[in-house]
Amino acid sequence: MSTSRDAQLTARAAKVIPNGMWGHMATRSITAGYPQFFQSAQGCRVTDVDGREFIDFMCAWGPNVLGYQNERVDQAALAQLARVDSGNGPTEALVELAELLVSTLDNAAWAMLQKNGSDATTVCVTVARAATQRRKLVVVRGAYHGAVPWCSPSLVGVTAEDRAHILYCEWNDPASLEAAVAEAGDDLAGIMITAFRHDLGRDQEMPTVEFLSTARALCDKKDALLILDDVRAGFRLDVRGSWAAYGVSPDLAAYSKAIANGWPLAAVVGSERAREGAGKIFTTGSFWYGAASHAAAIETIKILRDTDALAHTFRMGDRFRAGLDRVTAVHGLKLRQTGPSVMPMVLFEGDADLKIGNAFCLAALNHGVYLHPKHNMFLSAAHTEADIDQALAAAELALQDIARAGVIKG
Ligand code: PMP
Repeated sequence: MSTSRDAQLTARAAKVIPNGMWGHMATRSITAGYPQFFQSAQGCRVTDVDGREFIDFMCAWGPNVLGYQNERVDQAALAQLARVDSGNGPTEALVELAELLVSTLDNAAWAMLQKNGSDATTVCVTVARAATQRRKLVVVRGAYHGAVPWCSPSLVGVTAEDRAHILYCEWNDPASLEAAVAEAGDDLAGIMITAFRHDLGRDQEMPTVEFLSTARALCDKKDALLILDDVRAGFRLDVRGSWAAYGVSPDLAAYSKAIANGWPLAAVVGSERAREGAGKIFTTGSFWYGAASHAAAIETIKILRDTDALAHTFRMGDRFRAGLDRVTAVHGLKLRQTGPSVMPMVLFEGDADLKIGNAFCLAALNHGVYLHPKHNMFLSAAHTEADIDQALAAAELALQDIARAGVIKG
């Protein structure tokens, strides 16, 4: 029997947690051999409960954008914690954060705060319905918008009624979007689209201007609301919001993950057009007013707005991407690297069953690098050139290991 601390905790968890672990962080959904439990994280490194340190390319699956334990962010949050976090009402930090979101994000006239991405996307849907007095929502097939009945990727425990007013179109396909909107008839409340296509296990795709402009034009024509689900990519690609560079403005946008560098927070921002509807809905949560996360978000957004943190992260992403191409080419392998380099999807060509990808990522773990074989990864501003180069050297060793094991050519 293994005596690793991770194995011990996994065995204990199996008794008191259904199926041992739930959700996206259950390591069974990656591949057997990943550590489940961690004890600390600092900068761009995470340490598992057995004391193994990894250069991290998952960034807590999105929240860590500046580096774990960023001093400025954590000091602001901890100072706020020392005064009050959840009290009988919000603090000044809520207003300051809402002002900052409105002045930073494209087409934002107001903001409302929550805790998780699913809260934010669901608030967007409710606001769109309240603002339009209509029911239908068009989403892209396969897009992830959260783990609640109207959008969860699993249908277990979900009723057909939960999805009754959800219509689907295909990514970057204006004709299918037009067809879904036509099907909604005069009952279209909104169209929700992610920043780019970042579905599990497939090449990522940036949106075409034509696709986003079609969505914008259809919403204008139908008097419906265009919703950007920027939960995963927000505050990673562009501090103004991920569509700012495309010149397409959403009416509503949902943020979470990176917004407070790991402190729990989500936000919905909206245009003037959506303000009245937003004011009418009932939305709340016990912890949605917690001031420590608001303080953390204020610092995070200011750092992202005022420094070259994001540009630096792109440079590191580009360096990592080029390096991975180089070290895999030595073994005659071709990679499919897609999406923004700060949120890279790395798949091996001709590896549909992920035999190479899984073996490579497991071998990389042994050399101190935490990668993901089929989910988009994340880089942070704490990754330095030295970290990237160390990770690439580890990737070379991992490739040599799997070549020796006969998974790839030597
Ligand atoms: N939308 C998108 C695009 C996401 O990536 C996620 C989380 N992966 C969510 C919504 C839901 O966020 P949360 O898990 O915080 O509820």
